[in-house]
Amino acid sequence: MELVLLGPPGSGKGTQAKLLAARFGVPHISTGDIFRKNLSEGTDLGQLARRYMDEGTLVPDDVTEAMVRERLRETDAQKGFILDGFPRNLAQGEHFDAMLSEEGRTLTAVIYLAVDRAVLMSRLTGRRVCPKCGATYHLEFNPPKAIGVCDVCGAELVQRPDDSEGTVSTRLAVYDAETAPLATYYQKSGRLREFDGDQPVDQVTRAIVESVAGTDD
Ligand code: ADP
Ligand code: AMP
Repeated sequence: MELVLLGPPGSGKGTQAKLLAARFGVPHISTGDIFRKNLSEGTDLGQLARRYMDEGTLVPDDVTEAMVRERLRETDAQKGFILDGFPRNLAQGEHFDAMLSEEGRTLTAVIYLAVDRAVLMSRLTGRRVCPKCGATYHLEFNPPKAIGVCDVCGAELVQRPDDSEGTVSTRLAVYDAETAPLATYYQKSGRLREFDGDQPVDQVTRAIVESVAGTDD
C-alpha cells in the first residue's frame, strides 16, 4: 500500500494517515513531523528548516527530497507507506515520480481530501498536538478526554507555533500557489481519488479504505 495524502493544511491528512497506517500495517511518513523532530533535537536539518516552518513557507526541495529518499529506504517502508505532506509542489511531484521508478515502485493512489476554506482556519487554530507521541486533537471537534492532556500517553498538549492565525494564512496561500497544482498533475495521470474531508473522521477513513482496498499492487 503506497499512498500519498494530498490536501490543504487542516484537511485531516495527519489524522487519516495515522488511522490508515494502522489499518494497512505500513508507516505514516510525515515530512512536517520529521522536520519538527529535527527541530526539537537541534540537528543541522532542524536549524535549516526552522525559518521556513516559522514563516509557513516550504523548506527547499533538494533538502526535502533527500530526506524522503532516505526515509523510504528504511526497512519498515519496504512494505509500503502513507505519505503525508510530500510532495508539496510540482517539482517535488516530478522528482518523486522519478524516485519511485528508480526504486521500481508504483503509487497505489493519491488521496485528495477536499475541505471548505472556512472550515480549515478553525481546524488549524483549534488543533492541539501531543509533543511526546504525536497524537492530534481539536479543542472542539476532537477533544481529549481530560482538557489539555494526551489520551494516549498523558503528556501535556501544545499548540503548534505555525497554527497561529497569521502563519495559517501564509500556509493556505502557499498551498494555493504551490501545492494545489499537484491535484491536476495526479488527476491527469489517473492517480487522484477525491474524498469529502468535511465528514466525521471515521466516515472519511471508511470511504478511503473502501476505495483503496483491493487496488493494492
Ligand atoms: P493536516 O495534517 O491535513 O494539517 P490534521 O489531521 O492535523 O490536518 O487535522 C487538522 C485539525 O482538524 C486537527 O485538530 C484534527 O483533530 C481536526 N480534524 C481532522 N479531521 C477532522 C474531521 N474529519 N472532522 C473534524 N475535525 C477534524
Ligand atoms: P505540515 O506538518 O505538513 O503542516 O508541515 C509543516 C511545515 O514543514 C510546512 O509549513 C513546511 O515549512 C515544512 N514542510 C513539510 N513538508 C514539506 C515539503 N514536502 N516541502 C517543503 N516543506 C515542507
